[in-house]
Amino acid sequence: MGIKIPLDATQIMVKPVGSLCNLDCDYCYYKGAGVHVFDGQMSMMSLETFEKACKQYMDLSPNVPAIHWQGGEPTLRGVDFFRDAVDIEGRVLGKQFRIYERGIENHFQTNGTMLNDEWCGFFREKGFLVGLSVDGNSDMNRARVFREGREVYEGSIRSVGLLRKHGVDFNILSVVSKYNVSDSAGFFKFLLDNRIQYSQIISAKPKIGRSGFDEHSLGVEEYADFMKSLFDTWVEDDNPEIHINTIDDLLRVALGRTPMICESRPYCAGQVTIEWNGDVYPCDHNVTEDLRLGNVHDGCLADILRSDKYVSFLDRTAALDEECFNCSWMRICFGGCPRQRKDGEEKTYLCSGNKKIFEYVFTKMNEVFRGEGRFRDSRMRGFFVELKRDAERNPVE
Ligand code: SF4
Ligand code: SF4
Repeated sequence: MGIKIPLDATQIMVKPVGSLCNLDCDYCYYKGAGVHVFDGQMSMMSLETFEKACKQYMDLSPNVPAIHWQGGEPTLRGVDFFRDAVDIEGRVLGKQFRIYERGIENHFQTNGTMLNDEWCGFFREKGFLVGLSVDGNSDMNRARVFREGREVYEGSIRSVGLLRKHGVDFNILSVVSKYNVSDSAGFFKFLLDNRIQYSQIISAKPKIGRSGFDEHSLGVEEYADFMKSLFDTWVEDDNPEIHINTIDDLLRVALGRTPMICESRPYCAGQVTIEWNGDVYPCDHNVTEDLRLGNVHDGCLADILRSDKYVSFLDRTAALDEECFNCSWMRICFGGCPRQRKDGEEKTYLCSGNKKIFEYVFTKMNEVFRGEGRFRDSRMRGFFVELKRDAERNPVE
């Protein structure tokens, strides 16, 4: 198969409460994952399980050790668990502290509704990077609701202020869904109004256990229009300090660098998921019984990641539509996320829209690079030129 497993590039996503959540968002892909996989047991990770996971992870000698805490809603595990978890990280690192001067990075994804001064003080003290899930203004955020149906927008926006007050590093994670897909300019305005410098956007994906398309999947054209118009708005705003992960990744590819987003890579490696009971899965969109790779209580993570099951999961080009091999966008698409392939199809259902996005964005990027028309003296052009120089100086990264 020829895939070299980059064990030292692996990061882990840890699920301290499985899929347990205080919200009931209608598009959530993880909803119920814990129920069908874990038979309804109370899904709370123990410190013993975390210590095993952490130790086995550090045994991989990761280049940049990073733990991504995610749910469900990880704050439901309580702040004391995370205080102890950080102590465990310190113990596990032990003598390696000199090698990993910055210690282990902790990334924490939350809906923000449970954040308070205690949580934010803890994040600041321990250097956590927080990802806040919010899809735009209150209208765009309507998919995100409490169990009794109440919308969560006010709580999420309140936590932006709290995080800022405590000086916590944070970004936002937004799902592109039917509630915001028709208003990319409004979405961008939301970023500006709330002084959000870093954001990640992902398209709604089908729930775990379903095939690559469901009632929350976006229309091909509407998603393409959203991305093209978001790129336009970003370029016209002329502020390179606003970072949106999908746009950053397209720029990286244009400069010959490796994309950061898993969907743009030739294989599905990089962030294995460890569930509350120690079960290991290849990624958190694939927490299904048939893709369970093992458990940190039974074996070591390095062996699990070298297993035939994991290796064959990784290579998403193994079964790929012939059209992809002849496609000029293969270097950034590789058939798209397998979770977005319809039954019996071997490329993403977003294929025709993706082609439009790539064509549009790369054409416009070239206009900016060349300084055509209004871009001649733009900040964006200066930014692109600087990135290009940097890529020429450091071509490998
Ligand atoms: S299945 Fe999709 S989400 Fe999971 S690693 Fe592959 S590309 Fe990423
Ligand atoms: S754009 Fe379509 S044909 Fe091209 S690599 Fe992606 S899925 Fe395949």
